[in-house]
Amino acid sequence: MSTHDVINPATEERVDAVDLLGVDETDEAIAAATVAQRTWAALAPADRGRLMRRFADVVDGHIDELARLEIANSGHTLGNATGEASNVRDVLHYYSAAPERLLGQQIPVAGGLDVTFKEPLGVVGIIVPWNFPMPIAGWGLAPALAAGNAVVLKPAELTPLTAIRLGELAREAGIPEHVLTILPGKGSVVGERFVTHPDVAKVCFTGSTAVGQRIMRGAADRIKRITLELGGKSANIVFEDADIAAAAAAAPMAAFDNAGQDCCARSRILVQRSVLDSFMERFETAVKDIVVDDPALGGTQMGPLVSSGQREAVRGFVEDAHEDVDIAFRGSAPQGAGWWYPPTVVLPTGTQDRIWREEIFGPVVAVLPFDDEEDAIAKANDTDYGLSGSIFTQDVGRAIRVSRAVEAGNLSVNSHASVRYSTPFGGFKQSGLGRELGPDALDSFTEIKNVFIAT
Ligand code: NAP
Ligand code: MG
Repeated sequence: MSTHDVINPATEERVDAVDLLGVDETDEAIAAATVAQRTWAALAPADRGRLMRRFADVVDGHIDELARLEIANSGHTLGNATGEASNVRDVLHYYSAAPERLLGQQIPVAGGLDVTFKEPLGVVGIIVPWNFPMPIAGWGLAPALAAGNAVVLKPAELTPLTAIRLGELAREAGIPEHVLTILPGKGSVVGERFVTHPDVAKVCFTGSTAVGQRIMRGAADRIKRITLELGGKSANIVFEDADIAAAAAAAPMAAFDNAGQDCCARSRILVQRSVLDSFMERFETAVKDIVVDDPALGGTQMGPLVSSGQREAVRGFVEDAHEDVDIAFRGSAPQGAGWWYPPTVVLPTGTQDRIWREEIFGPVVAVLPFDDEEDAIAKANDTDYGLSGSIFTQDVGRAIRVSRAVEAGNLSVNSHASVRYSTPFGGFKQSGLGRELGPDALDSFTEIKNVFIAT
């Protein structure tokens, strides 16, 4: 068995070593989950709900520990890591009400009684990326378990520690053995096996579009259910009638939160030409004020990138060998050990530039001007992605028109908040397939069964 050294991105020190599982161990876990799922699904709905509430309560008692683990493993700031652990608790609480509310329908028919049931799928495989290890695990496992499925979950090779701990906390809370199994390993081994294994009924994947496409192709062989949460290149559109000071103050963290390693990052800023100068002046001050420092310190706003490889990938966009990238201004970053990269604002020459079109997944944001509403919408939609976006305007009609016109799953007006556990989240176009969170997520973890009983 091979192992993976977990490295602290802020110090480059080794934190832990984790065994990487192979295909045989994955198959054993899936076989055990297949058996455990039947008992789990047969529990009284109130008991399944109660166990999920207990799981939420145990997570609540370990928020600080989970946050510390995430800071050490992923370089997330204290504020973010605490919020991420709390999010797991909240998602578990939210879906703990679901087992007793998985309502079917009674449909009028001739000659009998017709009812529908929402049946669990069986074993659900969840493949988690490294950028938000805790929330993305929770968004999959909580509704999946609530609906009566068993879960096998593969954390990203780089960031397995909090998922492993959540698996232990589930057991501590009384979730039966093999109902939730954490399987650290390589995507090409454990993740791939979720796709090919006949007893995994569904795969939830969050990560790159390239791997998402591969999973979709693999799932076709068995008509396997999938949810895909892929990348983004979301637009932040600032109109001349907006509160420019507020828009400029909010724009930095919309792009640089989690060091830009966020599929919802507003990494393209579109500013109406008439207010470009006044926006950029305020934006520069705000970017230079971002506190990039040791993520464990309370006042830190941005930490390091997750790995040296990710930093090289980001650097490759800014110091592109084929494109002369114009850097408008930069924030600061610590020197020395750690995979630091300063918040960076670039000015593309046009919408064809690579830095404008491709997901960078780092603290780099590109700014382009637009002329009018039509031009803003055209430029915002000129992308293969469609995950989120923001619109800054004080004109209510414009806010609604542009929200309807932008091809993306999650839009915010005069705000950058796009993810809440109680509202649906997911992408248009190549940003994904299906929706997570909110009241409807249970539908993607169940099959509707129709039963007719002759009278
Ligand atoms: P990735 O390769 O798509 O990894 C995401 C998850 O999929 C990881 O758990 C990974 O395992 C697993 N995986 C990899 N290959 C697989 C396969 N053939 N079958 C099944 N699972 C597989 O993403 P990445 O390499 O970490 O990041 C590359 C880029 O993807 C980023 O720079 C960013 O642009 C994008 N990304 C987007 C999101 C998002 O939230 N939408 C998240 C992460 C990355 P391993 O960890 O073992 O490789
Ligand atoms: Mg990869």
